[in-house]
Amino acid sequence: MIGKDVELSGVSMIYPNGFTAVQPTDLTIRAGEFFSILGPSGCGKTTILRMISGFLNPSSGAIAIGGEPMIGIGPNHRPTALIFQSLALFPLMSVCENVAFGLEARGVAKAERRRKAEELLGLVALSGQEDKKPGELSGGQRQRVAVARALAVEPAVLLLDEPLSALDLKLRQHMRAELKAIQRKTQVTFIYITHDQGEALAMSDRVAVMNEGRIDQVATADALYNNPETPFAATFVGEQNVFSGKVVRSENGEAQVETPHGPMVGINLHRLNVGDEALVMVRPERIGIVDRGGAPAASNQLQAQLDRRDLEGALINLYLRSGSQGIHVNLHNRGEEMLALADTMTLAFRHQDAVVMRPGSMAR
Ligand code: ATP
Repeated sequence: MIGKDVELSGVSMIYPNGFTAVQPTDLTIRAGEFFSILGPSGCGKTTILRMISGFLNPSSGAIAIGGEPMIGIGPNHRPTALIFQSLALFPLMSVCENVAFGLEARGVAKAERRRKAEELLGLVALSGQEDKKPGELSGGQRQRVAVARALAVEPAVLLLDEPLSALDLKLRQHMRAELKAIQRKTQVTFIYITHDQGEALAMSDRVAVMNEGRIDQVATADALYNNPETPFAATFVGEQNVFSGKVVRSENGEAQVETPHGPMVGINLHRLNVGDEALVMVRPERIGIVDRGGAPAASNQLQAQLDRRDLEGALINLYLRSGSQGIHVNLHNRGEEMLALADTMTLAFRHQDAVVMRPGSMAR
């Protein structure tokens, strides 16, 4: 099997009721890549997938797979296969027959179908389960049958629409690793739709963050977490402390923002000017405690009251308040920290750990 690239140029979707589900979008997914589209419910992820698979025609724009234009080509004639959350396995057919199903329609002879199905079941670590019915398998095993069945027709691109959301947490985490391993072995291009940031970060070579019909940012998991480019990407992926204010100084790639909690300096990502409204974003693990009770002495310091602390094994989560603003800090658990926490403390963070952005829509 070999993956192909997928190219969307100016692709949009306006449903017949006039609702714009996908704004004009340019997106290139590389051959053999594990690519996720991550976003909240209703942001247009499934609509994009249905346009790539050919079940839905874009209102504008062009889609090419492996350089071949796809407009006007029906789903059965595209080099794609689709897996939904409801796996739609045939309950009365054996595992082997389920996997071989698509091959029969393509005129593959019976013995060859069996051989191919056995090979694919080996690939998804289900050898020996050929003659069982789907009802006799666990949720994770059924998931793998669905993957084998989709791969049977040798797609260049496998489209997966939240395939793990029906599984319990443990199985979901296990299946992440399985899906990633299958993708690596087959080198098929995987396009994976999810609203679960953990899934997207764990499996993907690259992730597109989507919000309200628009792709906000496309980046590797690392880059998305460490260098988010929009308020939405910054707040949808991981936790974030967000402070609002106005820019009072801008130089050397940094901006100083006057906030109700004092002056804060951070990376001036959007090149804001003096007088501009701004958001300052800091991750909970980038904030430290400098003083237990003392008053702020410099920029990027603020005094806060402790509301709650939760021990989460290796981490201690602190939920604090500064005026009406909630602040989340997480510390490594070094044993003594829990005992020494005061009710009021001074928090601080480094300039390079704060990002100054232009205000925009954020994740709830
Ligand atoms: P979810 O994670 O909940 O599946 P999604 O990101 O996949 O969400 P889509 O299914 O692509 O979202 O839907 C995007 C938007 O388009 C939603 O607001 C939805 O209500 C709307 N929509 C979907 N199908 C239609 C349709 N046939 N007619 C009109 N609007 C639709």
